Formats: sequence, C-alpha cells, structure tokens
Amino acid sequence: ASKRRGRACSTLFDEDMMSDMRNEKALVRELRAALLLQHLRVAYQPILGSNGELMAYEALLRWPHALRGYISPDVFIPVAERAGLIADVGYYVLRQVCTEMSRLQPVPVNINLSASQIALPDLLDRMLEILDETGTDPSRIVIEITESASLAANEVVAGHLRAIQNRGFRIALDDFGMGYSEFNQLRALPFDVIKIDKSYICALGTDMVTDVFVNAVVEIARRLGKVVVAEGIETEDDRLRAGAAGCHRFQGYYFAKPAFVEEIDRAGACGAAGRLIG
Ligand code: C2E
Ligand code: MG
Ligand code: MG
Ligand code: MG
Repeated sequence: ASKRRGRACSTLFDEDMMSDMRNEKALVRELRAALLLQHLRVAYQPILGSNGELMAYEALLRWPHALRGYISPDVFIPVAERAGLIADVGYYVLRQVCTEMSRLQPVPVNINLSASQIALPDLLDRMLEILDETGTDPSRIVIEITESASLAANEVVAGHLRAIQNRGFRIALDDFGMGYSEFNQLRALPFDVIKIDKSYICALGTDMVTDVFVNAVVEIARRLGKVVVAEGIETEDDRLRAGAAGCHRFQGYYFAKPAFVEEIDRAGACGAAGRLIG
C-alpha cells in the first residue's frame, strides 16, 4: 500500500511540477511584457525616526495583474531571478524612483536589490547612468540587500558593495536575523543600516531569546556607529518595545502601508492610510 501511495504521490508531484512550470513560463512572459509596457509600479512606505519624523521611504515593487490582482514581489522576484530578468527589474525600479522622487519629501529612498544583481559586473555604471539621466544624487539612494547563503562569502558582492558605498550610496542589511551567517555578514560586508526582520519585532516582549537578540544587535550597531531600523511595526506595543530595545527607526503598517506617489501627493508624507497595496 505504501508503495502504491508512493507512486501516486510522485505522479501528483510531477503533475504539480508540470503545471508550476507552465505557470512560471506564462508568468515570465507576462512579466516581460509588464516591464516593457511599464505596468509595474513602485509603492513607498515611510521609515520614521523616534519622534515620528520621516527619515526615508522604502520602495516596494507592485505588479498589478489583470487577472490575478496584485502579485506579491515575494512571488515574482524569484521568478524574475530564474528568468534572468532581475537586472531589468532593478534598473526599472531605480529609474522609476529617481523619476518620482521630486514628488516625495526630500529624504532618501531605500531600494531592494537581489544579491544576484549586486554581482553583475556593470551594476555601478548602470546605476550611475540612471542617476545621471534623472539628475539624482547617490546620497538619496539606500540599497537594501537581503542575506542569502552566499552573500557574505562572495568577494565579488562585497567588492561591488564597497564600490557602491564609495560613490555615496548607502547600504542596508535587510531582514536581519533571518539568514544563516548574520555575524559573518557584519564582518564581511560594508553597510550603514541594519533592518531587523519583522518576525523578531512582533516577538519582542513574548520571547526572551528574541529580546536578547534584538538588544544585542542594537548594541553592536551602536558600537559600530550604524543605524537600526525595526521592520514590521504593526501595533503601538511593537513600537514601544522596539523603542525600548533601542531601535532608531521604525517602519510598518502601524504608521503607514506602502502607497503610490500620487496617493502620497494627496495624503501627505505617509500616504493614504488604510489603503492596502502592501
Ligand atoms: P522587504 O524588503 O523586507 O520589504 C518589507 C515587506 O514587509 C514588504 O512586503 C512590506 O509591504 C511588508 N511590510 C511593511 N510593513 C509591514 C507590517 O507592519 N507588517 C507586515 N506583515 N508586513 C509589512 P512586500 O512589498 O510584499 O515585499 C516583499 C519582499 O519582496 C521585500 O521584503 C523584498 O525582499 C522583495 N521586494 C519588494 N520590492 C522589490 C524590488 O523592487 N526588488 C527586489 N529585488 N525585491 C523586492
Ligand atoms: Mg527591504
Ligand atoms: Mg525587510
Ligand atoms: Mg524581504
């Protein structure tokens, strides 16, 4: 019986994989078209200081899909990576941000780049080209990178990040605490900002290991002269606990959801409260 179940399962699995592959192929075609037609939009979420003052925005890509509603970047970014489209996505986001920036408050905008993108040989040149075309200063851009298993160990990535930083961009380590070698990352990569992942922030005050970890990261950052952002602040309690742990900056639905530039135009710095595109 177990053998038969095994066979049945593997058949099912194969069919799932086939349909996944068909789905992914369709998604890639649609993503390519969406990039060409400029259907992807950047949404901006504010990052606030301890007195609620606006310190920066994070640019978060949105793909409004005719049939599927908004497709999450957690879904389509890995698809773009597998299809070799991730560089196009990155330059697309940078160009849109630089173009729209004059309509935002004059604070830096954080942009997410994948590790695979950081490794591209012409990354810095292409970025500088876009900044040049749009008259944007590198000090207005913070590059957020998420740890992947190979990031800290990758000399090419570390070298590119150093070159990027030397040209006046800042670097933020995103989703800190979720990787495999966080402390090695601190040692190997240049960075200015640490963003503590939301899974830690929502567990503050409920779990001693989390409290100790967040306090330790804040202390390390303080000694290194770096800024700590608490991600995923959803409640007043989250805000109070992250503040008590010493985090310098705060980002999350409690303050504002990501919003398009025209919504921010209408609603002020923090965008249209309550409108969920994030
Ligand atoms: P991330 O860079 O860590 O971005 C933060 C994510 O948390 C965003 O999800 C944001 O909408 C969400 N978020 C913000 N505040 C809260 C909160 O209070 N509670 C909860 N539960 N979530 C909150 P989003 O926009 O779906 O993006 C998911 C991930 O996709 C991002 O995580 C980032 O890794 C990636 N991503 C987004 N845009 C881009 C992009 O332009 N390029 C690349 N390479 N990756 C991107
Ligand atoms: Mg990010
Ligand atoms: Mg993050
Ligand atoms: Mg992330």
